[in-house]
Amino acid sequence: MSIIIQKYGGTSVGNFEKLFDFENLNKIADNVISYQQKGHKVVVVLSAMSKATATLLDMASALSKKKPDKRETDALITVGEQMSVALLALILKDRGKKAISLNAFQAGIVTDDTSGNARILTINKKKIKELLDDDTIVVVTGFQGTDKANNITTLGRGGSDTSAVAIASALKSDVCEIYTDVAGVYTADPNICEAAKKLDVITYDEMLELASLGAKVLQIRSVEFAKKYNVKLKVLSSFLNQGEGTMLISEEDSMEKPVVSGVVCDRDQARITFKKVPDIPGISAKIFVPIAKAKIQVDMIIQNTRADGKTDLSFTISKKDFSSALEISKQIEKKVKAEGLVTTEGGIAKISVVGIGMKNHSGVAAKMFKTLSENNINIRLISTSEIRISCMVDEEYAELAVRKLHTAFGLDIKKKSK
Ligand code: ADP
Ligand code: ASP
Ligand code: MG
Repeated sequence: MSIIIQKYGGTSVGNFEKLFDFENLNKIADNVISYQQKGHKVVVVLSAMSKATATLLDMASALSKKKPDKRETDALITVGEQMSVALLALILKDRGKKAISLNAFQAGIVTDDTSGNARILTINKKKIKELLDDDTIVVVTGFQGTDKANNITTLGRGGSDTSAVAIASALKSDVCEIYTDVAGVYTADPNICEAAKKLDVITYDEMLELASLGAKVLQIRSVEFAKKYNVKLKVLSSFLNQGEGTMLISEEDSMEKPVVSGVVCDRDQARITFKKVPDIPGISAKIFVPIAKAKIQVDMIIQNTRADGKTDLSFTISKKDFSSALEISKQIEKKVKAEGLVTTEGGIAKISVVGIGMKNHSGVAAKMFKTLSENNINIRLISTSEIRISCMVDEEYAELAVRKLHTAFGLDIKKKSK
């Protein structure tokens, strides 16, 4: 008998503004029961209803004069998942099934103590296994954990994917299914690029790049986890009869290696520029060591050397880290003799093309720059890796850039001729 982990995302669970609409939860119950009837043992991992986490975060900000306390914010925002699991277990029990809801404490999901962005350390698999052996459907909260001192923690936005993969790995489950509001992983976000194609398979490495570049269909940590522990991971639609979804595979198993497998857009971008700092050794260290110490992840960095022996140094970060990064930058500004700071919170977007095949192909960057220039889209920053190229552009051109690049790299779905 196989163990299956099924994770359902926010829109698949319900809508926080329509609390008494249980249609989606009932559909989840149908799906879970049908798997159990086929002889599988099922662990369900649920997100909070759509808009729940964002609303709870807004509440914390609205009542705090300073940055909201991190521990209490985690205690508040986990309420959304808590609600989802209790509601589904109520439905399953009402239908005469053996089911139980477990929060992170009850499921023994232990994390480190980084509030808001914790990492899972262990899971009490014995308890979940015993329940499964008793034919109970186990419904676990996604997104949350508890640290060793029993404080509630959260795993970062989109973290329920990681909860599901971690549980799948702990239980050595046969497959971890991520049910969401699109039919799988596409060559671009299907909500902004109509011509996007659903992929039947994608390698872990490509998915890692897509996720790290802003394709939020899977949280990056869930992909890292799945790759490291060989978890069979599948993304598919919660709304039944939408096909087989997308399977993640290792590079060895991938037959063809497309030069470009996808185009991604990330609007969660903020930028800070140190103006006219002296172009001498040690400046970057003075800026980026304190930023790293504050656990702020810097994404792109660019240095423009000027004729006067000075340089403008810009870097980008996630919007959520903007105020902390700005505070630190203000403290460093004088030390590095900058002639001021220029900031952009939002209004910019990072567009990336990704593909394993790029490793052995030249000309991808040139094609990307040419396509953007032909469409009058100005490139503000550029960064590259072995299998991706990213350009920062003004946000108003983000969707246009995605569509034009998607076409230029031959990814558009072929229209059926009439
Ligand atoms: P869930 O609430 O189920 O976790 P998310 O909103 O986190 O769902 O992720 C699903 C969304 O990811 C889709 O609605 C889609 O807009 C977006 N997305 C971005 N890039 C892609 C892509 N390449 N393939 C599929 N979906 C994508
Ligand atoms: N509810 C959390 C969020 O909105 C976790 C998740 O949905 O994966 O980020
Ligand atoms: Mg998600």
